[in-house]
Amino acid sequence: MGTKANGAVEAGAGENAAQELFIGGRTRPASGDRRFPVHDPATGEVLAHVADATGDDVAAAVSAAHAARESWSHTPAWQRYEVLRDGADALRRDVSAMAELISAETGKPVREALGEAHNTVRFFEWFSHETLRLPGEAWPEITPTRDAIVVAEPVGVVAAITPWNFPAFMVACKVGAALAAGCTVVLKPAEQTPLTALFIARALHAAGLPDGVLNVVPTSDPASAGQVFLHDARVDCISFTGSRAIGELLMREAAASIKRVLLELGGNSPVVVLDDADIAATASRLVQARYLNAGQACVAANRVYVVESVAEALLAELGMAVRALNVGDPRRDDTNLGPLIDLAAVERIETQIDRAVAQGAELTTGGGRLKENAVSAFVRPAVLTAQGGQEPAVFSEEIFGPVLAVVTCRDEAEAISLANDTEYGLAAYVFTGDADRGLRIARALRAGSVAVNGALTSEPQLPFGGMKASGLGRERGRAGVEEFLELKTIQLAK
Ligand code: ADP
Repeated sequence: MGTKANGAVEAGAGENAAQELFIGGRTRPASGDRRFPVHDPATGEVLAHVADATGDDVAAAVSAAHAARESWSHTPAWQRYEVLRDGADALRRDVSAMAELISAETGKPVREALGEAHNTVRFFEWFSHETLRLPGEAWPEITPTRDAIVVAEPVGVVAAITPWNFPAFMVACKVGAALAAGCTVVLKPAEQTPLTALFIARALHAAGLPDGVLNVVPTSDPASAGQVFLHDARVDCISFTGSRAIGELLMREAAASIKRVLLELGGNSPVVVLDDADIAATASRLVQARYLNAGQACVAANRVYVVESVAEALLAELGMAVRALNVGDPRRDDTNLGPLIDLAAVERIETQIDRAVAQGAELTTGGGRLKENAVSAFVRPAVLTAQGGQEPAVFSEEIFGPVLAVVTCRDEAEAISLANDTEYGLAAYVFTGDADRGLRIARALRAGSVAVNGALTSEPQLPFGGMKASGLGRERGRAGVEEFLELKTIQLAK
């Protein structure tokens, strides 16, 4: 594959393995040789003209995954482990190239992209080990004449739909777990970031993953791909990460065939900051929890509820820390924030800031575009402030960009009640100097993951997912593998 020194994939190379569909272990163009451009958001340059799968191409990928299913699901666990471990090792050898590709497609700083690439390797490796620990039970003598066993079988063909914000890591979470469980996969990456997904699939295949076990179908028409996944009876499960609107659509339409649906739909993560917190440390961790990936992360801290006695101090520290962030060229080592993914994302953020101000919030730091190109723009990291009880309605929405909302509250009780007053429940944060208080509040917050005195880190053994409208099911951890298994109970007459 042609990656330039700056990480960009050489464009216009015609039929280049890096930009073709990956179906049944082979690269191939889309029907009619349809293609769509993938851009570098930092420069606006076209990185590649990627094969644009039609519904028929997606159906062909489903056929390949279906054909591979029997053999992969019956491959002894030890052998599946070896194949997945070798795949993780191959990705580790290519970790720098993967990071360059992630950065080129998303615009995130190369340093952050390298972190994501290493995590991707780590997760694939961890899932390879889980292959050796799939659950099962034996129940002898359930009656005087019967024994029983409970076997965990792979659910079958999994359609994985991934977002653009973590184009490698999201693939590891879904594909690593599904393959470990013995499922085969059709992966439809986000249209902004198909190159990383293709890169991972080709690396795993070259390391020994059998043909058809993992197929990748980039497309500029995700709705048609979604229709194939929903209505093709050979697809047993849809694992989706993305917007709530599309999650609702998939769940509604999957009802027609009772297809298993796993949903990770983002959040509106609250933060509670109490009077006994170390305010300087809280500010610096909040900067991590909000502005990583230019705020484009579903667990990002969205709304801070700070008790009034420490509000002024926190805002002063936050203002300084946020103004010190470097926005600019993702390829520079000292860059903290690259561009947002595209101009539509920038416009959404600007509208949210404008609405917040119109609804009574104050923009105390940042906002506005720093520079822009034909496809994207760099946004100055921003802080909005408001008083508890007078929160702008926009604070109840997910803000998918570098904007932190800070709300001053009377006391702990008001902070917790406002923090829980949301339809979402993906992540939450609490800052306090008292460990018991931290644990008590962590238990009181309705979210799938809670961090006490820090940002959240992604660890393969920890389950991750949403309560309430943030989703269904869990990814990562043992639970993340079990979502791709189905229990079969067998009673044996003696
Ligand atoms: P975002 O707004 O963050 O891009 P989306 O929910 O639109 O969130 O996208 C997340 C993933 O869902 C992407 O891979 C996208 O291509 C895919 N997607 C978008 N629309 C549909 C659809 N109608 N059916 C199936 N997948 C879809």
